[in-house]
Amino acid sequence: MSLTVKILSAMAAGLILGLFFQGLSISPDNYFQTYILDGLIDSVGQIFIVSLKMVVVPLVFISLTCGAASLGASGSIGRLGGKTIGLYLLTTAIAVSSALLIALLVNPGMGASVDTVLSVNYVPKDPPSVKETLIAVFPDNPIAAMAEGKMLQVIVFALFLGLAISKSGENGKDILLSLDKINQVLMKLIMLIVSFAPYGVFALMVKLGLTVGVDEISKLAAYFFTVVGVLILHGLLVYPTLLFIFARVNPVVFLLKMREAVMVAFSTSSSGATMPVTMKTVEERLGVNAKVSSFAVPLGATINMDGTAIMQGVATVFIAQFYGITLSPDQFLMVILTATLASIGTAAVPGVGLVMLTMVLGQVGLPVEGIGLIIGVDRLLDMLRTAVNVTGDGTVATIVAATEGELDKERFDK
Ligand code: ASP
Repeated sequence: MSLTVKILSAMAAGLILGLFFQGLSISPDNYFQTYILDGLIDSVGQIFIVSLKMVVVPLVFISLTCGAASLGASGSIGRLGGKTIGLYLLTTAIAVSSALLIALLVNPGMGASVDTVLSVNYVPKDPPSVKETLIAVFPDNPIAAMAEGKMLQVIVFALFLGLAISKSGENGKDILLSLDKINQVLMKLIMLIVSFAPYGVFALMVKLGLTVGVDEISKLAAYFFTVVGVLILHGLLVYPTLLFIFARVNPVVFLLKMREAVMVAFSTSSSGATMPVTMKTVEERLGVNAKVSSFAVPLGATINMDGTAIMQGVATVFIAQFYGITLSPDQFLMVILTATLASIGTAAVPGVGLVMLTMVLGQVGLPVEGIGLIIGVDRLLDMLRTAVNVTGDGTVATIVAATEGELDKERFDK
C-alpha cells in the first residue's frame, strides 16, 4: 500500500470508529474512555503533532538561512520576496472577496435567531494594535524567538543571517555548505515522521469522530456549508486557474501531489505543524527549487491563510445578518483589508483564525460576541480551512518558481 492510501484508509477508519463511539455515548469515567480513547488514542495523535512541530523551528531557520544566502548571492532576493508576498496577499484578498460575495448571495444569517443557533458566551480579548504587530516581527532575542516558536521573528532573523552569509566571502560559503547538509538531514527526519502519519492521523480522526457536533452543524447548516462551499471553490477552482495561467502547469497533477500535505493539514488543523510535509512535497514532488521553497513555504505557512480569510468573510456577513446590521460598501472593503492583514497575524495553529476574527469584526463595528454563535462548528471548519491554507502555500511556491525559471517541470510531471 502506498503511504497516501494508508493515510486515507486511516482517516476513514478513524472517523467511522470515532462516530461509532460517539453514538455509544460512553460515560466519561468508563475505563475504555479513560485509558483507550482519552489515554492511548489521544496520546498517539498528540505525539504525531508534536513530532511534526519538533522539526518546524530548525527547518525554518536552516532552510530559510540557506535560501536567503543563495538568493542574496544572486541578487534576486528583493524581486522574489516581493513577488511571493504580493501573491500571498493577492490570493488572500481574492479568497475573502469571494467569501463575501457568495455569503451575500446565500444570506446564511437571515432569519437565524438565538433559538435556532447554539450560542456560546464568548468573551473577546482586545486585538493587538498594528504598531505592536509590526514591531513584534523583529526579534530582540532570536534564541527566545525560536524557543517560543515565534515564526515571523525566526523568519526575519534567518533572512538577515542569510544575507550576511552571502556577503561573507569564503567563510560564508563554508557555512552555507554545512547548513545545506543539515537541511538534507532534516528532510530525512521529516520522512521518518511522515511514515508514522497513518497512525497519527488515525488517532486524530477518532478524536474528531468522537467530538464532532452533528447537532451544531445541522443548526448552523447555512453558515457551515457556505464556508465549506467557498473553501472548495477556492481550492479546486481559484488555485488551479492561477496555476494554469501563471505557472503553465497541469493543476490536476499539482492537487494530486499535494494530497499528503493536505491530509496532514486536515487532521492536525495546523499549517505550522504541516510545514515540514509541505516543504518536502513542494521540493521533492513538485520540483520547486530549494532556493524558492525554502523562502516561500515557511513564509506562506506563517502569513498566508486563505482558508481562514474565507471563514472570516462568511462569518462577518453571518454575524451582521444575525444582528440585523447592513454593511456599507466601504465596510466591505474594510473587511477585505483587515481579513487579509489578519491572515498575516494569524498563528498557524488550531483555532487562531477565530480569535483574529475579533479584529475584523471590531474594525467594522460588529458585535464581537457574535463569535460565540459560530464557535460550535469551528473545529471541523478549522480542519478544512487549514487544508486550503496549505494548498495556497504550495500554489504560490509553484507559481513563483515557474515564473523565476526555478521549477523542474520534468519532476513536476513525473
Ligand atoms: N488552523 C489554521 C492554520 O493553522 C489557522 C486558523 O484559521 O485557525 O492554518
